[in-house]
Amino acid sequence: MRKPARLDPLALLAYFPAMAIRPVIVAPDPRLKTVSTDVEKVDDETRKLVTDMLESMYEADGIGLAAIQIGVPKRIIVMDLDQKDGKNNPRAFINPKILWASEETATFEEGCLSVPEIWDEIERPARIRAEYLDREGNRQELEADGLLATCLQHEMDHLEGILFIDHLSKLKRSIALRKLQKAKRLKDAG
Ligand SMILES: [Zn+2]
Repeated sequence: MRKPARLDPLALLAYFPAMAIRPVIVAPDPRLKTVSTDVEKVDDETRKLVTDMLESMYEADGIGLAAIQIGVPKRIIVMDLDQKDGKNNPRAFINPKILWASEETATFEEGCLSVPEIWDEIERPARIRAEYLDREGNRQELEADGLLATCLQHEMDHLEGILFIDHLSKLKRSIALRKLQKAKRLKDAG
């Protein structure tokens, strides 16, 4: 349903939606374990969410963010791997799916806005082919390697409620979780 058309300056402003920075949820918040659901229709509300996610990601100095990290259980990822010299290359992937993954693997040191202060080496398929919807709702396909492949897989894990530390050995994960809890205690203590 559309709003009735009338000359209302506030309604006009709605055509230029203000961006909103939203706080990033930090582990062990149980919401991060949510399996996100498909976006049924890519509409203005979806695009507004993408804009908010990008703003929140830039604000937090991230290179990738999944919607659940700001508390929205929708299958949306944003990313910008080319931030330098004040330049941006914002990307959005809606309902992304991996179509193919190489047997060859690559190891990157990963970090996560929802798992602050922790970095660890994670092994994943080196190359993937994925499909997704863009901001206009058009189906796109891409082949990725390097950081793009890693980042896509890391963010797509979030859509299944999986954190990168879940890929670590039991021992390494418990060390990471202890570190996380210690950082949280320090933060809570101010
Ligand atoms: Zn993450």
